[in-house]
Amino acid sequence: MLTVEGLRSRYGRIEVLHGLDLEVASGEIVTVVGANGAGKTTLLKCLSGVQPVTAGSIVFRGEALTTVPAHARLQRGIAQSPEGRQIFTNLSVEDNLRLGAYLFRDERVERDMQDAFAMFPILKQKRNLAAGGLSGGQQQMLAIARALMGRPSCLLLDEPSMGLAPLLVAQIFEVVKGLKSLGVTVLLVEQNAFGALSIADRGYVMETGRITMAGPAAELIADERIRAAYLGL
Ligand code: ATP
Repeated sequence: MLTVEGLRSRYGRIEVLHGLDLEVASGEIVTVVGANGAGKTTLLKCLSGVQPVTAGSIVFRGEALTTVPAHARLQRGIAQSPEGRQIFTNLSVEDNLRLGAYLFRDERVERDMQDAFAMFPILKQKRNLAAGGLSGGQQQMLAIARALMGRPSCLLLDEPSMGLAPLLVAQIFEVVKGLKSLGVTVLLVEQNAFGALSIADRGYVMETGRITMAGPAAELIADERIRAAYLGL
């Protein structure tokens, strides 16, 4: 579904992605784990189109994306739930969700909203309240739900567990795992390597702008080097 080859990107004169290769098949949950600053967010920004690519290619469902502007990538089926959630704090929960569906004017928007509320009942309870009043975990749920309102075939998730209490982290990972049954392909970027690999089909390890390991998630979790460097085991 998504093929990335030789991807390079830079901030000013400093290159932070040094030629990444990565693949995501339809229906998979793929995770990219790596330390703070490895370049995971930059990778997702390149995929969603908000960060320029200096070399390499991104092909999504057989179509070259590298020069397609960010807004047009959602129309093609790629949505991102960004790092730090980036919800509109002054708007209500419901209006945040509607913004996620800005491409659509059909009656399915209401159904999608009900689906989002079924997935995250707390959002239904708070639908008329300002999103800024939600807890961190609830805001993360809203960010995921808002991205899903764009009806993506591929969802890019940036650090959904960041800053959450352990119970909520488990809940968020369960939700991400459940996206598979909705037919949504997921590329998940995480510092929480154990949580992310536990729900993923395959994983990549990223270090300072390069992929250093790749394989089935179960194999990566069992790998001694990963256990020592990323899992604290
Ligand atoms: P984190 O988990 O902290 O988000 P990350 O793996 O996602 O880390 P990136 O945010 O992609 O890493 O950052 C990769 C490198 O690029 C880091 O060295 C970072 O300091 C640098 N960087 C990120 N954003 C910018 C920017 N806007 N301008 C300059 N350098 C940046």
